Amino acid sequence: MERAYIKNLGLDYDYDLLDTRKKTDAIVLHHTGNPTDDDLSANEINRSHQAQGWTCIGYHYVIRKDGTIEEGRPHWTVGAHAYGENSHTIGIHFSGNFEIGEPTAAQIESAAMLLANLCTDYGLPIDRDHILGHRELMPTDCPGENLFSQIDIIVGKANFYAGN
Ligand SMILES: [Zn+2]
Repeated sequence: MERAYIKNLGLDYDYDLLDTRKKTDAIVLHHTGNPTDDDLSANEINRSHQAQGWTCIGYHYVIRKDGTIEEGRPHWTVGAHAYGENSHTIGIHFSGNFEIGEPTAAQIESAAMLLANLCTDYGLPIDRDHILGHRELMPTDCPGENLFSQIDIIVGKANFYAGN
C-alpha cells in the first residue's frame, strides 16, 4: 500500500498536555467553514485554536487545497474536533468551505490515501460506518454539502488505495 506523505510543520505547543487515545473506531471528516472558501494551513488553525484557549490544533490532519497533508496534533492523541466523540475518533480537516466551494481533486485523492493508511493501521473497515462526516455526529453543516456528498467516492478510492 502506498503511504501518504505527511508534512510536519513543527507546530508550537506543549505535547505533555495531550492525552493518549485508548480507542479508535471512527474517522471524522471536517471542513473549515469560514465565510470565505479559505485554504488555511495547520499552522494558522493551530494559532486560531490556541487563541480559543486550546492546547493546540484540534484536528489530527489538515488537507490543503493542493492536496498537501499537514500533521495536526499526533494521531495517537485525543483530539478536539467532535464534541463528545473525541475519545475514540481521529479528525481530518479539509481546508475550505464546502457549502460554497468544492473540494479539489487533489484533496479527494490525498484524503483517500490517508484514510486507506489510517484504517489499515488501526484495523478499521474502510466503509461509511467508520468514516463519517461531522454532521453525522451532531447538528452542524460541517463538512459542507459539497464534501459530504463525496464521502462515498472518497471511501471507494480509499478501498482502491488499500488494495481491497
Ligand atoms: Zn467539523
